[in-house]
Amino acid sequence: MQALAELLNRSASRHSHLCPRQVLGVRMALTGAQALGLDLPRKDKNLLIIAETDGCFLDGLEIATGVSPGRRTLRIEDYGKIAATFIDVRTGEAIRLAPRLDVRSRALSYAPGESRHYFAQLTGYQVMPADELFSVTPVVLTTSVEDLVSRAGMRTNCAACGEEIINEREIIAGGEAYCRSCLGQTYYRVSAQGMQIFAGVDRVLISAADR
Ligand SMILES: [Zn+2]
Ligand SMILES: [Zn+2]
Repeated sequence: MQALAELLNRSASRHSHLCPRQVLGVRMALTGAQALGLDLPRKDKNLLIIAETDGCFLDGLEIATGVSPGRRTLRIEDYGKIAATFIDVRTGEAIRLAPRLDVRSRALSYAPGESRHYFAQLTGYQVMPADELFSVTPVVLTTSVEDLVSRAGMRTNCAACGEEIINEREIIAGGEAYCRSCLGQTYYRVSAQGMQIFAGVDRVLISAADR
């Protein structure tokens, strides 16, 4: 087991400060991995974590577990919650951890003499027993582990926009492969300026074809 203080130091060095959410991230990492019987840090891909927010919490989680988006072992479903699901990829076993609802008030009793809530949490979260800190709920994933992880190296091209789609993220509709954007599952729309550029490119292409 890695030492808590060492992990907190490493997490804090990413921020130039240590905050309660980083402590929650580190402690959640240690608690979740232990509950699944997985040693930390991971150098393999047997632990997959789906975190429900970004930010400081995630740094604590990454530092202590060794998971990362780059290694495809950490995904974010941004629900704006300090919570995460830990998945043993080999067995499919999944548990979701979240701070207990009364965790802030409990922290006060673990930081005697500290009346400032922020600092009471910073101290309390480091020393509270894990079962007072987190709820641990066995869960069943609505998407299979195989689909979540998908096969790296797979590639196809969208039947509408032509852009390449990797890692089996295409959606099949009417027998054709499409990217999510072209099926309207998108986080952006092309700006008015972009539309003018497209229109201009179209005119150039059309006039070139006319010639
Ligand atoms: Zn922070
Ligand atoms: Zn497309």
